[in-house]
Amino acid sequence: MIDEIHEECGIVGVYGSKDAVHLASLGLHALQHRGQESAGLAVSDGTLVKCYKTQGLVSNMVRKMDRIPGFAGHIAVGHTRYSTTGSSNLINSQPILVNYQGGQLAVAHNGNLVNAGLLRKEMEKQGSIFHSTNDSEVFLHLIARSKKRSLSENILAALHQVKGAYSLLFISSKHLVAARDPYGVRPLCLGKLKDGWVVASETCALDIIGAKYERDIEPGEMVVIGPEGVKSTFFAKQKKKAHCIFEFIYFSRPDSRIFKHSVDRVRRALGKELAREFPVEADIVISVPDSSNTAALGYAQASGIPFEIGLIRNHYVGRTFISPVQGDRDAKVKLKFNPVKGVLKDRRVIIVEDSIVRGTTLKQLVSLVFSAGAKEVHIRVSSPPVCNPCFYGMDFPSRDELIASSKTVEQTRRYLGVDSLGHLSIKGLRKCAGDECDDYCYACFSGQYPMGNISTTKNILERD
Ligand code: SF4
Repeated sequence: MIDEIHEECGIVGVYGSKDAVHLASLGLHALQHRGQESAGLAVSDGTLVKCYKTQGLVSNMVRKMDRIPGFAGHIAVGHTRYSTTGSSNLINSQPILVNYQGGQLAVAHNGNLVNAGLLRKEMEKQGSIFHSTNDSEVFLHLIARSKKRSLSENILAALHQVKGAYSLLFISSKHLVAARDPYGVRPLCLGKLKDGWVVASETCALDIIGAKYERDIEPGEMVVIGPEGVKSTFFAKQKKKAHCIFEFIYFSRPDSRIFKHSVDRVRRALGKELAREFPVEADIVISVPDSSNTAALGYAQASGIPFEIGLIRNHYVGRTFISPVQGDRDAKVKLKFNPVKGVLKDRRVIIVEDSIVRGTTLKQLVSLVFSAGAKEVHIRVSSPPVCNPCFYGMDFPSRDELIASSKTVEQTRRYLGVDSLGHLSIKGLRKCAGDECDDYCYACFSGQYPMGNISTTKNILERD
């Protein structure tokens, strides 16, 4: 019964530094927001690939990993996970390391394959045994079955068979390989270190390592980094890109650049456009921290209404602690948020939220704000109503649970108990995406799936 959309994963790879494990761990810390259920790291010293994974946060992994003697090398790949396919136990965490005829190979994947279920069934019929229930293992099986001569040819053969969203990192004893699906759904960037290279989901991971942003890994591109240098291959010509617009709305960190744009700038533009589309007379603008801070600032700037901190978020309430106890939802929200009474009392308040999923948490937040003495509450949402699930690596509730799939905006307003409710339009969202607005996926709002309609994407693996 989730009431938030979760990112599936964050990935980072380092090549050419004797501190590769440390640097990749730092990168994972920066990408923690993309997944908090498990973290893992694979490392190679040029001859042997080792892998370590734990459930929980990156800090938990680092604490335990530091005690492993000899866990070092000059190539490392890290992964932090929030599961969307496969259950969230350790066997489904990544990187997944295997031995096959070409040697050792590990994969770290951000995204979701829409034909993983079909491919897996076919391979199982032919005798393959899968160890996990997550779709990323499919890559390794396809690579192992390929009869090509080199690692990069085997990976290319696998990439030609999969369909869906993937930003990928592979580590072998001697190489780091990065690849991005032809639609470029999830972000992936390349950075330069003094003596080596870094590949990461977002540029905030480059910043913490001290790497300089070089460029994005392009849609349909594979980059092989090894003793021979850096080699780029384009394995698919894709006329249409489909970057996930939700990365700008909610998932990526505001201090990152993704899809060649600053997240802060785009997210702020969403708030400004929202203020233009849905103005309202009020005394203050507040955010639902932290995810809507930047959009709320944009709304305040464009409307001239002051931005205030009206809700305080407790950052130290872990996932386990807040796992829902039936009938205790109010307590769950109160553990996470507390209203600032002196800010809210007798004020007409605009709450800027990035998205509404089921609406249950927002309803409770509204009641907290009213209980702190607010005179009026107006909700402004910096995205259009979410009516459709995501098949490309975000964890959405089912369509039936999405409030916008069964209620009109007016019905939602009444359910939330607020004075007004306004969602940014798809047109406004496209405007904020700029000249390249056609290069984005808007399917959870529009129902137009870039890789075909829902019926063709049904063969995803069963969700947890
Ligand atoms: S459906 Fe929504 S969340 Fe999924 S990739 Fe498209 S825009 Fe992103």
